Amino acid sequence: MAKIKVLDEHIANQIAAGEVVERPASVVKELLENSIDAGSSRIDVMVEEGGLASIRVTDNGGGIEPEDVETAFYRHATSKIEHSRDLFQITSLGFRGEALPSIAAVAKVEVLTSASDDGRARRIVIEGGRLVSNEDAAAQQGTDFAVRELFYNTPARLKYMKTIQTELGHISDVLYRMALSHPEIAFTLRHNGNVLLQTLGNGDLLQVIAAVYGTSAAKAMLAVEGESLDYRLSGFISKPEWTRSSRSAISTVINGRFVRSFGLNQALLKAYHTLLPINRYPLTVLRLDMHPSLVDVNVHPAKLEVRFSKEAELYQFVEETVRSALRQEVLIPKAVKRE
Ligand code: ADP
Ligand code: MG
Repeated sequence: MAKIKVLDEHIANQIAAGEVVERPASVVKELLENSIDAGSSRIDVMVEEGGLASIRVTDNGGGIEPEDVETAFYRHATSKIEHSRDLFQITSLGFRGEALPSIAAVAKVEVLTSASDDGRARRIVIEGGRLVSNEDAAAQQGTDFAVRELFYNTPARLKYMKTIQTELGHISDVLYRMALSHPEIAFTLRHNGNVLLQTLGNGDLLQVIAAVYGTSAAKAMLAVEGESLDYRLSGFISKPEWTRSSRSAISTVINGRFVRSFGLNQALLKAYHTLLPINRYPLTVLRLDMHPSLVDVNVHPAKLEVRFSKEAELYQFVEETVRSALRQEVLIPKAVKRE
């Protein structure tokens, strides 16, 4: 007798949730990515008790069509890619169609969304992966996504959560990354009603750096700008005397996606060379733009890793561009001063 069965959608979603939804910050990341992909210009995040009690993300993006609202919660349901060739040219933050079913499998979710400006909206409630209701409603264009009682039906995972302060720290980190990656979007983060981050969304990256790291850090930054045939680099790096003890001071944004890249970090540090004290890192926000086919983002569902198709060339371009910014701003003025 056959013993092998294909798991039903409900169990499959619970398994995927284990990978996609590690902690409240993972939910915030997925919801923000969806809001950004929807073309929002303002995104408000409200969390209670480190996100364990509730997470609410409200955006003014394109919204979800009424007939798509339930489908959006199916596994591998996405509006962002269609053909396998699209995988080699991803221009959106999401594309796996895994976030909504995964989140809904381990929480109580309520979404109010409208894809039109006539007030027509849809409200859907899903708890532990089971549809509770899906009905007409009224709302302005955009999406209001509420996630309550995360991990209420997976006690083992819930037990694993750290203190509210730790979970909130991870959520703040996600907000910082998103705000630094998208200075053209106005973000707010509130925890138990208190405003923790607010950006204007006027496109001024230095203003976002000030909101995230403080105004004195923003004042110690040098502008970086460079272009090659394949790549464009822009952003800010700190003067060598303004350093931090953690590598996480280095932020890299590729085509609007916040990533971690050991290779890019090394290129950056090589550019500073002997200007940095041992075990100190510059504060940087570097934005790299390239054709989507030059970077593979399909590496891991939740991790921030990417792969580059011409890495050696890219690293050299970054190193040289950063070095020339440092040379101009740091070395030349010093030489002049000595006279
Ligand atoms: P993915 O982002 O990989 O497509 P998700 O499970 O995160 O998968 O979302 C499924 C779909 O739901 C998206 O492709 C998108 O069409 C829709 N969606 C989710 N959140 C939003 C939002 N805030 N605004 C508009 N559409 C959304
Ligand atoms: Mg998504």
